[in-house]
Amino acid sequence: MTQNATKVTFWGVRGSTPTVERDSWRYGGNTSCVELTTAGGGRFIFDCGTGLRMLGNHLRAVNGRWTKWRGDGGIEAHVLVTHYHWDHIQGIPFFHPFFEPQNRFHFYSFESKYLGRNSLRQVLEAQLAKPYFPVDVGTMAATRTFREITGGDQWDIEETHIRTVFLNHPQGCLGYRLDTPTGSVVYATDNEPGAPEFDDNLRQLAQGANVLIYDAQYSPEQLASTRKGWGHSCWLEGVKIACETKVKNLVLFHHDPDSSSTTVDGFLSAARQEFPATWAAMEGMSISLGTNGTEVVLPEARLGQRRRLCFLATVSGRTEDGMPFEEKATVRDISVQGAYLWLHHRPRLQSELRVVIDGPQQAGAGALALRATVTHCEARRSKDQNGVGVFFIEDAEPEPPRD
Ligand SMILES: [Zn+2]
Ligand SMILES: [Zn+2]
Repeated sequence: MTQNATKVTFWGVRGSTPTVERDSWRYGGNTSCVELTTAGGGRFIFDCGTGLRMLGNHLRAVNGRWTKWRGDGGIEAHVLVTHYHWDHIQGIPFFHPFFEPQNRFHFYSFESKYLGRNSLRQVLEAQLAKPYFPVDVGTMAATRTFREITGGDQWDIEETHIRTVFLNHPQGCLGYRLDTPTGSVVYATDNEPGAPEFDDNLRQLAQGANVLIYDAQYSPEQLASTRKGWGHSCWLEGVKIACETKVKNLVLFHHDPDSSSTTVDGFLSAARQEFPATWAAMEGMSISLGTNGTEVVLPEARLGQRRRLCFLATVSGRTEDGMPFEEKATVRDISVQGAYLWLHHRPRLQSELRVVIDGPQQAGAGALALRATVTHCEARRSKDQNGVGVFFIEDAEPEPPRD
């Protein structure tokens, strides 16, 4: 697929372990996996958390089985692994393109002192060893190459320059910077601030980057108390680094499995007060860096939220014995996910709106008052109005009935 921008796509944004709780769905429950594609056709994958499965399904859908008969060599990607904790490797056995012979993958990570030479290769083979997985590594038909790297290394892959540094995390972790012809992206997750050598490493890596993807697992209060020494960071530290290194966009990443979407909303809005160009990583979100600037697109992801209300409705249909009917009914509860609005203003993506939908004037009816977050904005959808997609984020009491 050709494109004229560097595109970063988030397939897994959660830290530590995947989540399936309903209140975490909006940001997503898969663990770390971010894809970067360049205008020249280069494809990079940061980490192999459970989000990798989603990326595999996407690549299959895009490249499809027809690559086999097209004979174009299949999928090729450079897989940059930060470290070997479960949340960065667990997607490996579930990435379909690894099992197809026409594909080629080049893996990069560091030699772990606990594993010795060929650490990443060992990790990959161990994941598919008996009795952990039904088939062994011999079924991984794709061509795989492994390169051991270390902090401070830099190299080029076609038109992209790659740099790495070590971050402050138990058993080690690499941060990566990719400079592409249309923008620079730093992937620095799993890092605890406060160790001067590593703080300095990260600042050098992040200097002037278009996008800094940074560990924001905890609140500043947690980081200073109960989560001190756990190897992670917070939005406030991300903001400090972004300001000091003149980063253009900060992306809060590696959300805690116990953080609800509302908690992440709170981190984002606090960070935006200090550093307006902040985003909260969301599964399916993409950031394009091109000659026309930076474009962020959020996924369509609506979940039902139940709203108490008291609207009158006219309901018509057929009874059990087939007789047509029409009657006035009272709606006491409704599931609403989001809305599409036409607005003269252009609200910012991931900002909060208050939407009050007027109820009918009958007795007992009230207005539906909703908080919403902006997920989509289409300029001039109708004459001078923009099309704005919103997702409702919290149950609100109905407005009192009007007299
Ligand atoms: Zn992690
Ligand atoms: Zn880790």
